Amino acid sequence: MNYDLIIVGGGLAGSALAIALAPLGARILIIEHQDPFRDRIRGEVLMPWGSLEAKRLGIYNLLLKSCAIEVAYYSRFRPGAAALVRDLVATTPGNTCCMTFPHPAMQEVLLAEAAALGAEVRRGEAVAAVTPGEPARVHIGSDAAGLSARLVVLADGRDSRLRTPVGFEVKRDPEQLIIAGMILEGETDCSEFLAGSAPPQASTINLFYDPAGGRMVIAMRIAPGRNRIYLIYHKDALPKRLSGRHSVEETIRQLQGAGAPGHWFERAQQVGPFASFDGSHRWVGRPYRDGVVLIGDAAAATDPTWGRGLSRTLRDVRLLRDRLIADTNWRTAAQAYADDHDDFYGRMRRLEAMETTLLFERGEEADQRRRRAFALFAQDPSRIPDATGLGPEAPSDDVARARYFGEI
Ligand SMILES: Cc1cc2nc3c(=O)[nH]c(=O)nc-3n(C[C@H](O)[C@H](O)[C@H](O)COP(=O)(O)OP(=O)(O)OC[C@H]3O[C@@H](n4cnc5c(N)ncnc54)[C@H](O)[C@@H]3O)c2cc1C
Repeated sequence: MNYDLIIVGGGLAGSALAIALAPLGARILIIEHQDPFRDRIRGEVLMPWGSLEAKRLGIYNLLLKSCAIEVAYYSRFRPGAAALVRDLVATTPGNTCCMTFPHPAMQEVLLAEAAALGAEVRRGEAVAAVTPGEPARVHIGSDAAGLSARLVVLADGRDSRLRTPVGFEVKRDPEQLIIAGMILEGETDCSEFLAGSAPPQASTINLFYDPAGGRMVIAMRIAPGRNRIYLIYHKDALPKRLSGRHSVEETIRQLQGAGAPGHWFERAQQVGPFASFDGSHRWVGRPYRDGVVLIGDAAAATDPTWGRGLSRTLRDVRLLRDRLIADTNWRTAAQAYADDHDDFYGRMRRLEAMETTLLFERGEEADQRRRRAFALFAQDPSRIPDATGLGPEAPSDDVARARYFGEI
């Protein structure tokens, strides 16, 4: 064996796993294609349950002291309804909050930490193929012999090209929601409080939901003078998909139409790439076979609309770490992880399907269901599963669904 673990991809998933296992003496190689990391428009807000996972993995404080900001409130706005401002620390089970960061900066910090803890990092090289077996092998460029490991980890993201040739079947939900991401740079703070009185130094995630327009905005500061804004819309809500520089003006119109305040755009300008993505789930059932295990988006990509990908990725890392520590046979350990993953990911998929149907489905019947549900939420907010605080542990069974839809 050349290594204990070869990890393909040095993003959040790959680096966090190396950080978790390198101090235990595992011989780890990470191969990361990008050098430096580019802004590909990815997750920049970690949910409170993800913050808990980050703490369990020992990377929370590292991120906080290098590139991240704690955001302790979540503010939601909807036309015709009172603004809801949630104090996350006071109301989440782990008393945690959101964390925001520029995604490429987070990746650089974690990959550097993995290297500092003893993982070998090969940067700027791409893995061309993986051969499952005993041992599994990884081939960089045209290297036919490959490098062997007790376990090969594919952490190569939502567009993984390596998993299908290894024999994993990728499943996909039909397209429903589109998410577009934009950076605003300048004298604007998209984490400002727009409702209620702001505690000193506190900041908030701002979410604007416009059911009539089939759209939603999520905005937050990710660094001083730098903000991320996501526009989410139902695929049938707009005549054409918003992407690329020529769509920036129309996107700003849509953002304001959904409720984002105009002054944000007067004091700052859009920088970097502007692109939109099909948010539909894509996943692999049982993400382990023959010496190769999948984690993060390569295992399952949830809908970015709900901002849970980073948290889900850290859950994967923690589950795999725990299994690898508990069982010296890493093949049976990785199989057990695959079951753990399927269990919690299945619950997340059910939960997000509920949310997408209730909040974004189009048509008269959907409008009626929303009216009924929103009236009931006003009387009893516990009808809304607390996905922000509980993540996959938020109820998503048939009873939870019926209560959410106002059917019982
Ligand atoms: C538009 C958008 C918005 C999002 N917003 C949020 C959000 O607000 N909150 C949230 O929690 N999540 C969000 N997500 C999801 C979140 O970004 C992902 O879940 C998370 O980044 C997954 O991390 P990863 O390490 O699995 O994959 P990635 O971050 O994609 O990392 C994979 C790495 O593998 C490398 N790689 C790929 N192929 C190879 C190869 N052949 N050889 C070597 N290296 C390779 C890549 O260069 C990359 O660095 C969003 C996603 C999108 C698309």
